[in-house]
Amino acid sequence: MHHYHQDKWQKYIDNELEQWEVQLLEEHLYQCDECMNVYLSLLEGANPLEEIEPSLDFTSKVFEELNLELPSTTKNEPYDRKVLFKYYVVAASITMVLMYGGIFDLFLTEVPRATSEMISSSKRVEEIVPAGWSQRMLDSTFEKLELRSLKQGSDVDEN
Ligand SMILES: [Zn+2]
Repeated sequence: MHHYHQDKWQKYIDNELEQWEVQLLEEHLYQCDECMNVYLSLLEGANPLEEIEPSLDFTSKVFEELNLELPSTTKNEPYDRKVLFKYYVVAASITMVLMYGGIFDLFLTEVPRATSEMISSSKRVEEIVPAGWSQRMLDSTFEKLELRSLKQGSDVDEN
């Protein structure tokens, strides 16, 4: 494989190349670990003066932005509970994601199988149950609901 010289990568970093050359270099960068390493090492040493030092109140500003209180030993119990609750919510969310991940796995393996079984058995259901079965099922459901509401009404009367 043809590799580009370090000087080329430096020019690429310094934005001193033509557009077509930039494209060639970028395409090469996606495929070549060797040149990627050269590029990254150049990039690391590129602008040492521009390295950003966090200001003294950086942490408190971040906490302010996040609408969180800065941890402190003088804080009393309600604060700790609040923080614990936040951690609990985060932990619960992660657990849920993992759970759903498992459920999705189940869906991928179980649902297609169950669906194909349903499709193959649905024809039999239509053969066994005569026409109008859905209406009769609906009617009987309403009957059951009426009976239940009557029963519940009598229960209330007894109390
Ligand atoms: Zn290369």
